[in-house]
Amino acid sequence: MELSRTTFLSGVSALVAATAVPAAAEPLSDVDPVAEARGTSAQALAFLRAGNYRFVRTGPRPWPTPLPPPAAPTPLPRRPTDRTPQRPWAALLTCADTRVAPEFVFDAGFGDLFVCRAAGNIADNDVTGSIEYAVAEFHAPLVVVVGHSGCGACDAAIKTFDGKLFPPANILAVVRAIMPAVSTVPHDDSDRLRHVVEHNARLTAAALAAGPILKPAIVSGRLHVTWGYHELKSGVVTIR
Ligand SMILES: [Zn+2]
Repeated sequence: MELSRTTFLSGVSALVAATAVPAAAEPLSDVDPVAEARGTSAQALAFLRAGNYRFVRTGPRPWPTPLPPPAAPTPLPRRPTDRTPQRPWAALLTCADTRVAPEFVFDAGFGDLFVCRAAGNIADNDVTGSIEYAVAEFHAPLVVVVGHSGCGACDAAIKTFDGKLFPPANILAVVRAIMPAVSTVPHDDSDRLRHVVEHNARLTAAALAAGPILKPAIVSGRLHVTWGYHELKSGVVTIR
């Protein structure tokens, strides 16, 4: 059973209004998470790692996608249609960088990954709401924020922090969102950009995990939220 968008949104409103109630006792929706979840957090982590291994080592994945239990009753089509089920086993937040395309990097198929992308893998209200939607509506058991080597957005944040760059227009909002990570990495760090990228992904994951939908899902044991680092040179994504 899938909720309509209106039902989902009204459910979110009720959740937000009920923040005084112990969150773990509140159902996220009227969909049974055990029945609807595509798999466990551990299975989803294993699938991401296996998919990245295939991407790096052995080329494209066989078709159809091997699914974690409960398996889809019929193989998914190569090309999605309006009847293709939307049952992601992971929600990802990655940079908008052209080189990090998650479906390729994790060798995933249609219906597998719920992907949000923004420069610097930052989570503004819209992105946060999208990730929350993936967890509340589709019961994704895993959320990963993935930073990457050579991130231009993080590099711009560092240059702005150092007074060497003045981002125009709304680019400033992107840079500003990365500043908490920049400010905690020493100026003379020998691998400053990498550490800013990693810390930015870690902070973003922590912020998502503290939200009113993800937090009770984590407490109930059906969601894991973490972060990763994508090394472009090797293609390897290290998930923490
Ligand atoms: Zn980037």
